[in-house]
Amino acid sequence: MKVNQNYQNLEDSYLFSTIARKVAEYGERNPSAKIIRLGIGDVTLPLAPVVIDAMQQALCEMSVQESFRGYGPEQGYSFLKDEIQEYYARRGTELDADEIFISDGAKSDLGNILDLFDVDNTVLIPDPVYPVYVDTNVMAGRKIVFMDANAENGFLPLPDPAVQADIIYLCSPNNPTGAAYDRAGLKAWVDYANAQNAVILYDAAYECFIEDESLPRSIYEIEGAKDCAIEFCSFSKMAGFTGTRCGYTVVPMALERGGMNLHKMWLRRQTTKFNGVPYVVQRGAAAVFTREGQKQIHETLAYYKENAKVLAQTLDELGIWYTGGKNSPYLWLECPNGMDSWTFFDYLLENANVVGTPGAGFGKNGDRFFRLTAFGDKQKTLEAAERLKKLLAK
Ligand code: PLP
Repeated sequence: MKVNQNYQNLEDSYLFSTIARKVAEYGERNPSAKIIRLGIGDVTLPLAPVVIDAMQQALCEMSVQESFRGYGPEQGYSFLKDEIQEYYARRGTELDADEIFISDGAKSDLGNILDLFDVDNTVLIPDPVYPVYVDTNVMAGRKIVFMDANAENGFLPLPDPAVQADIIYLCSPNNPTGAAYDRAGLKAWVDYANAQNAVILYDAAYECFIEDESLPRSIYEIEGAKDCAIEFCSFSKMAGFTGTRCGYTVVPMALERGGMNLHKMWLRRQTTKFNGVPYVVQRGAAAVFTREGQKQIHETLAYYKENAKVLAQTLDELGIWYTGGKNSPYLWLECPNGMDSWTFFDYLLENANVVGTPGAGFGKNGDRFFRLTAFGDKQKTLEAAERLKKLLAK
């Protein structure tokens, strides 16, 4: 028996367990401390009423023989794919409904897509990064080249023609940095990928936070992207589906590499290894695109966006350098006074009772940076902002 030895090369992730331990220990030592958590990347507001209604209705259908549904299409029901196609069309991006594959979330597909690629490929990943891109490739034993995202490039690295890559990960708006590419930046990546015969795996899980109309919400808004990019999207942050699980992946029909059609390969992969997202969940997701659904999810998104604004204004007032906060639920700030990210974590916890996420947990370039999130409670976010102002004012 031989097991996958690559698992030995995975670095243990102590980030969130260390945060939880430090917060618990501090709480035990200081039972009266009112700790505010701005570290989590999970949403906190409930599903929209239209989603609940649609799911209840779908559940009732399942209880009646005439409307009961068993296995559905592995790629998702047309009623949901058509809504997503419309969602893109409203922004001027034409997709064939069959280019859209419904999934149980972006994370699964970001891992599963690697089934399409040989081990013998070079992967280009920004640092700092959402750790899933790194670990899924380490598991497969692929060679990873990191590109530096840093204050100099605004945490939006551009391609270096001297670097050879086959698979490129881009996430915009980015987790953890909140930075979002403009059209020129994405065009540079699309041109580079096509010149290198590479594939871009484009994570658009936070596209719904983009407010600036000049910024692209999909990589397919960029000419040439259908020849090189696969896009991953999610209902998690858009409509609070983190626990309900639904997302989608777009694989263009025209996307070919190594003499094979990646769309056909993905269809084959999904129909072989996946049996689709529950009907009830897909009905809930489709309700997001109704007029009332859009109104309701935008109210929730506005709540988070307001939190982001409060935190961004606080950092502006304090003169602290940061990315994100606009077009993103994340704020990525430079730790004050040259502190490293874990020192700043302790300092903030002990002196303001505010919890964030040390940037070091996302890669070496995060070592002097710190992530705050806008997914918390409004009053608590306001309170945290006041505490930050008090503690960090020069
Ligand atoms: N991509 C990024 C950048 C994320 O931050 C997350 C979740 O936090 C995901 C993907 C996962 O999304 P999903 O809940 O759809 O699996």
